[in-house]
Order: sequence, then C-alpha cells, then structure tokens
Amino acid sequence: MNPFYHIPYYPAFDKMTPANADEALSRLLPEANAAIDALETTFVPTWPGLMRPLHDACQPLYDAWGLLCHMLSVMNSDAWRQVQEKWQAELVTFSLRVGQSRTFYQAYLALRAADKTAPLLTPVQRRILDKTILGAEQAGVGLLPERQARFNTLQMDLAKIGTSFRNNVLDATKAFSLTLRSREEADGLPPALLAVAAQAAAAAPQGERPAEPPSPENGPWKITLDTAVYLPFMMHSRNRAARETLYRAYVTRASAGETDNTPLIEQALALRRELANLIGYDTFADLSLSTKTAKTVAAVDDLVARLAAAARPAAGSEAAELLAFARAHGFAEDALQPWDIAFWAERQREHLYDYSDEELSRYFLFPRVLEGLFELAERLFGITIAPADGEAPVWHPDVRFFRVSDTDGAPRACFFLDPYSRPETKSGGAWMNDFRTRERLSDGSVRLPMAVLVCNQSVPVGNTPPVMRFNEVNTLFHEFGHALQHMLTTVDEPDASGVNGIEWDAIEIASQFMENWCYDRATVRSLSRHADTGEPVPDALFDRLVAAKNYRAASAMLRQLFFAATDIDLYARYPRPGWSDADAVKRLNAERYSPAPLVAEDRFLCSFSHIFGGGYAAGYYSYKWSEVLSADCFAAFEEAGLDDDSAVRATGRRYRATLLALGGGEDPMSVFQRFRGRAPSIEALLRHSGLSGNR
Ligand code: ZN
Repeated sequence: MNPFYHIPYYPAFDKMTPANADEALSRLLPEANAAIDALETTFVPTWPGLMRPLHDACQPLYDAWGLLCHMLSVMNSDAWRQVQEKWQAELVTFSLRVGQSRTFYQAYLALRAADKTAPLLTPVQRRILDKTILGAEQAGVGLLPERQARFNTLQMDLAKIGTSFRNNVLDATKAFSLTLRSREEADGLPPALLAVAAQAAAAAPQGERPAEPPSPENGPWKITLDTAVYLPFMMHSRNRAARETLYRAYVTRASAGETDNTPLIEQALALRRELANLIGYDTFADLSLSTKTAKTVAAVDDLVARLAAAARPAAGSEAAELLAFARAHGFAEDALQPWDIAFWAERQREHLYDYSDEELSRYFLFPRVLEGLFELAERLFGITIAPADGEAPVWHPDVRFFRVSDTDGAPRACFFLDPYSRPETKSGGAWMNDFRTRERLSDGSVRLPMAVLVCNQSVPVGNTPPVMRFNEVNTLFHEFGHALQHMLTTVDEPDASGVNGIEWDAIEIASQFMENWCYDRATVRSLSRHADTGEPVPDALFDRLVAAKNYRAASAMLRQLFFAATDIDLYARYPRPGWSDADAVKRLNAERYSPAPLVAEDRFLCSFSHIFGGGYAAGYYSYKWSEVLSADCFAAFEEAGLDDDSAVRATGRRYRATLLALGGGEDPMSVFQRFRGRAPSIEALLRHSGLSGNR
C-alpha cells in the first residue's frame, strides 16, 4: 500500500518516502484530471450533483500534496525537495484549470439562480458558493480570450517580479558586511553574537579570510545585515560609528546597482492596478479588500487613523523619556539618531524591568506548560485533552499525539504536536496545519478534524529539564489557538469547516486570542513551576513581565501603522498628482506615522517584501485588524471578571459556540457580533497596550 495513495484517516507517517510520494502523484494527478473531465459532462447544478463531487474529485490529490509539503517542512531533505519541485507546477496548473473552468462557472451561476428562486442551499453552502463564484471571476473566468491572455501574462509577470524582488533583497543583504578587528570595535556585543560573527568571518571566501583563525574572544568578527545579527548588533553595540554604518546599509538595501528593486516597485504597482482594472475593480486595494472582512479602503483608513491618534501622544513621551535616560547615562548630544534608538531602548528596558529571559525560563517546564494549557482549555471550552501516544503513526520520535473530547466523553478531534527545534530538517518558525477537516460523509457519519502543531522550541540538553522561553510559551498558545478553531468547528462542509474559508484578515483572531492568557495572572501561576524550587512565577516578576510587554508600545504601534498606511496608499491612491514616485508616498507617511524621522537616503520600500514579494499587498493592515478583534474578544472575559471562575467558564462556552464553532461558515464579523453582541472596538487593544490610561 502506498501511504500517499487514498490516505487512511491516520496517515502512515512512518512509511512515507519521497519515492512513494512521487509514485502516488503520478497516479493521482491523471485520476483527478479524469474525474474533473467526467464531472464537466455529467454534473447536475445542485449541491450533491456539483459542489460535493467537485470537492471529492480534487481531495485525494490535495491530501497527498498537503502531506508531501508537511513532510518537506518537518523532515526536509534533497529528495523530498526534488519531489515537491517536480510536481509543484502541475498542481498549480490543475488548480487553475478547475478555477477557470467556464463550464463549472456557468453551473455555479445556475445553482445560485435556482437557489434564489426556491432555496436549496444552507447558509454555509451559499457562502461557499458565493466565494467559489467570486474566486472564478477573480481568476479571470469571465474575460474574453484576448483579455484572459493578458490577465494570465500579468499573473505570471507578477509572480516573477515577486521572486526577483525577494531574491534582490536576499542578495543585497548578503552583499554587505562589516568586519570588526579589535575588542574595542566589538564592545558591548553579547557572547552569542560574538560567536556567530566569528563563525561568519571564518566562513569568508578564501582571500578575504584572516591569517589567524577567528575566535569569539579575539575576532575578527564579521557583522552582516541578517536580521538575526543586525537586530542584536543595533541593540548591544557600543560602537556608534559601526551602528551608523550598519543602519545606513540596512535601510538602503536593494536600492542601487544590480539588485535595485526601484523599477520592480513601480512595475508591481502598475501591473496590479492593470490586473484589478481588467476584472472590474478601480484599484488593486479594492480587489484585495473584496475578499477580506475590512471590505473597504475607508475601513482601513479609519482603523489606522484611530490607532494613530491614540499612539501619537504616548510615542512622543516615549521618545522624550528615552532621550532623558540616554543623557543621564552618558549620551552627550541633543538628539538620538535612528542608529541610537535600539541601543538606548535596550539599556532602558534592562534598567526598568531587570529580569533576564534565562531567569524567567526556569519557571516554564514544558510538561507543566502543556498540562496548564490543557487545563485552561478544559476550563474555558469544556473539552478534555488526553495523551494518546502510540495510537497513530508519527514522523519523528519527539512527536506527541493527543485526543480531544467533550467533557462528557464525546470525541471531537485529535492532534499531533512536534515541539522541538530540529534545524537540520525542520523549517523555522511555528505553524498549525490541518490534516483532516471536519466533514459529514455521504453515509451520514462525521469525520473528525485532525490538526498538527509544529513549534521550534529549545531542545533540552543532556539531563537538564525541558524549560521553555517565555516567547516559546506564547508561540505554543498562539498555534494552539489556531488548532482549537480547527478542531472545535461544528461546520460539516469541509470547504468552510475549521480554519477553511476564513478571511485573511480574520485568521489570526483565534490564535492571538490565546496569547492573551499568557499575561493572565492565574493562568501564568498555573503554568509555571520553577525547575529547582517548584514555585510558580512570583507576583513581582509577573508584574514586570506585563510592564515589559508594553515597553515602547506606542512607538511599535506607530511603526506598524506607518507600514499599513504606506501599503494602502500605494495600492489605493497611487499614482496621484504631486506624488512623484512610490518613495514620495513613503516619506509622506513617515512624517505622519514614523515614530522617528528617517534618514534622507532611506529606501526601506526596496526591501518591503511583504507587499511587493509576498501576500500582503493591500493587506498589511491585517496584523492590526485581527489584533483589535482578538483583544476585544479577550476583553469579554475581563468584563465578566477574570477572578470569577463561573463567569470565565460561561464566557468561554460562548466563545467556543461562536468564534471556534462557526469558523469559515459565516462572515467572521458577524461571528464576532454573535459573541460580543456589538461591533468591534479598538478600546481593548489600546488598554492592553497601555495606551488608554487605564489597564
Ligand atoms: Zn498564526
């Protein structure tokens, strides 16, 4: 049996190889194409005669592809990569073929018309159908052949521009380095950074390599623009001239020479505008927002303006306090330059909150954190989570398996947890994936959802206890929030159940919501047991933790708003008389939003991959949008009284019945209304960030 071919409920992760993935895809792809061919001639424009069989025709192929991508992300090797590369384009072609089928498009319209005359569909099915129709239209299904050809060319060109843009940023980042040769020049750098920088010097190409092998203690040290080096360097280096050099290099990346992204920016903006116009939208922002909950440019403008109004005064005091602190500690000039801010902010943070990440991590033992998280889920949502290791195959011995049931014993879901960092084989970061989506099968039974949480937390060394850094605890809660939304869905249609079918700017609500509990005193007490003393986090340390979270929160918020406002201006209002180029739009917004003035040669847009080389074009605001909503959800618990256990439980059940249960089956804004009984407010986020005076 090939583990990728018509996959059983519990995938045989222990038997998966690149060779059998390759073999399975070579059968599944023609089978899926044949099934689509057949359906195009035999369909009936009803749900069971069209939508369901269409889903079923694609599923075996998509399931196999999903598991192949999963294996690549957790057990990376050249062989897995080759299989993925071999089939990638074929998968894209297949999904385009389904999405652009005029036969199916006419059938969707017929089904919608029939449903309007005499209701045939459930509200969830209607929402899926509407999204499918919009998706086909935005894929260019309705265009005349000549215009469709232009549309496809634009799509292809935009994909190429995105790739070149990202590659230019990577190449420009790699092209710069600064070598420090004396202890004096490297003053202030923490040991971990010295070690990385000495290693980088040792790896320099022959000819540039120093005569003596570099050492962490004596250098030389090669400082690069890699975020993992650049950020700590700017925070810790006492070498002000080097900080200035690094800063200027960083903000001018990919803005000149062979890696100049300036022309690509103007091209990307023009092509996206043309693409949007072709399918009937005035601007690319209108197209982007048509599939998001914010819906209109005006709604995004309004969010940015209101958050900025709240953050500006506080950011002014943050800047004044930082300057005063720096001057009291030896800074002799009248103003901090951009390359001074991270350095002095880090000194001020240490001074104010005085705890180290190491010290804090001694309180968070992984097994206890997990138990505490499960107890919280039981209390809030009435579910029981039980280890079931060994009951399903896994891809690595560290992977755990759990079952989720209602407290009355009814099974709801199961999930895998792959906790530890494995830099050789696992992609960085953390994520939640769905292997199985809740679905009512044709025999009337329900197939339960299955999720996987992948983290990259610290690996216990030798016999030391498995402690977690506080940000790793946060990450685990975040991913568990995604998983809860996937697992506790009550929607039976797979295209809208769990995390499927949720709008881009609403997908992070459930995850960020869970992060709030990491700053809830009772939850942190229950999660923490000191590795030596068994004590929970003391109150005084907890208070510093909360205060440190909001350190310079207004400046951080303004920075995000600067990015969001620039993005929306470029995709909604550019070009416009008086705006000479994209950089002029950036400078205008920097004056309005940037917490500190930019240097004259700043060309930050040339490395803004999110909106030119990634999926955030006219969507950067999504970060703040979902943060507002998740903070407002948590505020419902605060209003009920976090100390009142029965109120917390009742609110949790309501959250489960709305946010977690309805998922993609209903507009997320109306789901929010069901939970909150009103439209969202920015007050909770401002209060949680310490920006409204009363926390
Ligand atoms: Zn997330």
